[in-house]
Amino acid sequence: MTKVVHIGNKVIGGGNPILIQSMTNTKTENVAETVAQIKRLEAVGCDIIRCAVPTVEAAKAFSEIKKQINIPLVADIHFDYKLAIMAMENGADKIRINPGNIGSIDKVKEVVKVAKERNIPIRVGVNSGSLEKPILEKYHGVTAEGIVESALDKAHLIEDMGYDNLVISIKSSDVMMCVKAHEIIASKTTHPLHVGITEAGTIISGNIKSAIGLGIILNQGIGDTIRVSLTGDPVEEIKSAKLILRTLGLRKGGIEVVSCPTCGRTSIDLIGLATQVENMVADIPLDIKVAVMGCAVNGPGEAKEADIGIAGGKGEGLLIKKGEIVKKVPESELLGLLREELLHWGEK
Ligand code: SF4
Repeated sequence: MTKVVHIGNKVIGGGNPILIQSMTNTKTENVAETVAQIKRLEAVGCDIIRCAVPTVEAAKAFSEIKKQINIPLVADIHFDYKLAIMAMENGADKIRINPGNIGSIDKVKEVVKVAKERNIPIRVGVNSGSLEKPILEKYHGVTAEGIVESALDKAHLIEDMGYDNLVISIKSSDVMMCVKAHEIIASKTTHPLHVGITEAGTIISGNIKSAIGLGIILNQGIGDTIRVSLTGDPVEEIKSAKLILRTLGLRKGGIEVVSCPTCGRTSIDLIGLATQVENMVADIPLDIKVAVMGCAVNGPGEAKEADIGIAGGKGEGLLIKKGEIVKKVPESELLGLLREELLHWGEK
């Protein structure tokens, strides 16, 4: 079991629910745009948000951003230890550093000193691309063992400074290497682990790689927070992360949309309809299954396992509950009817 770590108003580790993180892709210096993006992410279920802090202005923006959001704000720092300190002074709830690129030990000490005074957790992040030369030589290149050794060395460095309010993240874009590294590190540390597949790619490849990697890792009981990294709108990261957790049975809540693959019987734009339904249900706080089916012939039967469903016909659509047709409406009214049913779910 990992140790419990408090990040702002959230708690991770120690068997607490796995939380979902994302990272903004706005300029952190632009407070309005950054806050707007964080609000969108909060609305779809982001638990913790990380922002890049590449400049003094970005570090200073933290105090203003923090006032306007409700989830913990994490500062992502590379190279400049002063930015890490400044971000903490401006309200960062956690900082993410790679002690290997912060500079000298003394600079890491300065960062740790401020974190300790304010009891701010430090996430020690190591990427397969940033392994030190001695480790690369020892393991003859990038290996899972090398990634783990590098991460633990850095955690020990900070522990030796008298601070153990840490989270560790080890990342590799090689999915199976990332899996192996997590299996190794989980047996060697009790610090909470933030899990993600780095540089996973665009929506399709990023989702597949993340689902496979996170799926294997989380299913072994490893991981305290996750991020699905996608080259795209971070809102998509949250949707994917929620689906991964729900599929693994690690999170309840939220509407699951199932849809048929379409076939020669389909006579409506089912792909468009299923996408519309998926977007429409994102903010409805129910824990049910909704089916979107392509035909009136087999749709109701195939939608039996869903709590509610719709099936498209020629110019008309059916509302289905537990496999039974309960209403027939013009196709144009189908989506609105489903929304109404969901908004009043359980009232009848
Ligand atoms: Fe084809 Fe209808 Fe089955 Fe969809 S529900 S795959 S349209 S038979």
